[in-house]
Amino acid sequence: MSRIAVIGSGFGGLALAIRLQSAGHAVTVFEARDKPGGRAYVYQDQGFTFDAGPTVITDPSALEELFEGAGKRLSDYVELLPVAPFYRLCWEDGDVFDYVNDQGELDRQIAARNPADVEGYRRFLAYSEELLQEGYVKLGAKPFLDFASMIKAAPELVRLQAWRSVYDKVASFIQDDHLRQAFSFHSLLVGGNPFATSSIYALIHALERRWGVWFPRGGTGALIQGMVRLLQDLGGEVRLNAPVERITTEGGRATGVVVGGETLAFDAVASNADVVHTYQKLLGHDPRGRDEGGRLAEKRHSMSLFVIYFGLNQVHPEVRHHTVLFGPRYRELIGEIFKGPELSDDFSLYLHAPTRTDPSLAPEGCDAFYVLAPVPHLGAAEIDWAVEGPKYRDRILKYLEDRYIPGLTDQLVTCRIFTPEDFRDQLNAHRGSAFSLEPILTQSAYFRVHNRDDRIPNLYFVGAGTHPGAGVPGVIGSAKATAGLMIEDLA
Ligand SMILES: Cc1cc2nc3c(=O)[nH]c(=O)nc-3n(C[C@H](O)[C@H](O)[C@H](O)COP(=O)(O)OP(=O)(O)OC[C@H]3O[C@@H](n4cnc5c(N)ncnc54)[C@H](O)[C@@H]3O)c2cc1C
Repeated sequence: MSRIAVIGSGFGGLALAIRLQSAGHAVTVFEARDKPGGRAYVYQDQGFTFDAGPTVITDPSALEELFEGAGKRLSDYVELLPVAPFYRLCWEDGDVFDYVNDQGELDRQIAARNPADVEGYRRFLAYSEELLQEGYVKLGAKPFLDFASMIKAAPELVRLQAWRSVYDKVASFIQDDHLRQAFSFHSLLVGGNPFATSSIYALIHALERRWGVWFPRGGTGALIQGMVRLLQDLGGEVRLNAPVERITTEGGRATGVVVGGETLAFDAVASNADVVHTYQKLLGHDPRGRDEGGRLAEKRHSMSLFVIYFGLNQVHPEVRHHTVLFGPRYRELIGEIFKGPELSDDFSLYLHAPTRTDPSLAPEGCDAFYVLAPVPHLGAAEIDWAVEGPKYRDRILKYLEDRYIPGLTDQLVTCRIFTPEDFRDQLNAHRGSAFSLEPILTQSAYFRVHNRDDRIPNLYFVGAGTHPGAGVPGVIGSAKATAGLMIEDLA
């Protein structure tokens, strides 16, 4: 049995801790904040429950496998509820597309726009299914530690045209402009620009079609609580309000962590914290930390997000659980979100209305929402969010009130915002990125942060900055890859 420290209690950190504890190791998770979950934090305001981050739960089979590996059943810890439609997509000209898991209904909506796209969509789905098989089922939980592993995967990547962008591939199958948006925006959910990110990420579409879109009863926070409970049932420990200040090293190995000024010895350390923060801050005393931290800091990082959590004293049953509100521009707006240099005047939004699936998340007769706008990270645009945040909030809420939620301002009971500066200050996210390293081909698989450090043999990584990348299924996969390595190394 080895003693292992996991830094951070995001989905990746908790999943790794569960796998290691199940394998007989003694795991302590150190979380800087007062609650577990990382990006899946929870706010409770005046009887409203707001999940801070992930709301679209996909691939429940990965979660089931995690619980089964611990000899338990997911359903004993949390109930997953199906969400229908998966998303409602709305454009400013009044066009609405309900993205559902029903081929006939999809065909009907696609044919109403452009009959030729029915066949195009089928070809796109077949392509997406192939990507899912090759990129996710086969490689999603494999650590890419050496270049040879990349070479091995290369012929498939070439065959599937992974060098082309998601949008480019979607546009090769589908002609209608709105449908091109509908089937390409998904990479934004994992921090990828659909015009730059590898077409591999088009697999998200097939992933949703195959396993569905789910929402935990009680919110995503209930899933995090279920994972924490599972870890504790196995004998593992989660320490909250315990920011790790440094990872100690000696003779080229990690020896433990410093927390609250106290040095604690461990046989191995795994970081779920931001990869730049881990190398630059926690390992800044070690040449490896300085070198690798400096290299990673200069890489391309995903955009940030501006999020407003708000509660209303009326219910709006017409608003679906997940809604994407496309603004007037697509390509140009996304370009500005990823490159800056400033905040655009227009926006595209994702609106979350969890009470459609679970009314217990708001007091009776009330409705809980969050709305997010992708925005440039702190390195791409110089925005003083303390000043601009409240103004941007008011613009977005007015837009919602004018177009989608009449009476919003008068019904507002509670409201809070989360800005790129909060991603930086509360989550230690480099440049306030919401999703860590941007998922472009040259920063994927072998080119992403390795699940085990190349120099320090008992230092490991898990979470959005590692392979396969951001998103709940991604970081659950990264935990499987990292746990496999650690269990082998520590045997
Ligand atoms: C608003 C938003 C909406 C999203 N929506 C979805 C969605 O619908 N579906 C989906 O699949 N994905 C979604 N994502 C992406 C997904 O949430 C993330 O990719 C994923 O949760 C990241 O998990 P992680 O394991 O990398 O850890 P993180 O969640 O990043 O957690 C890292 C943890 O490390 C802690 N930490 C940092 N430094 C230290 C330190 N020095 N000491 C101790 N602890 C430290 C942090 O406090 C944090 O708790 C969304 C993300 C955001 C921001």
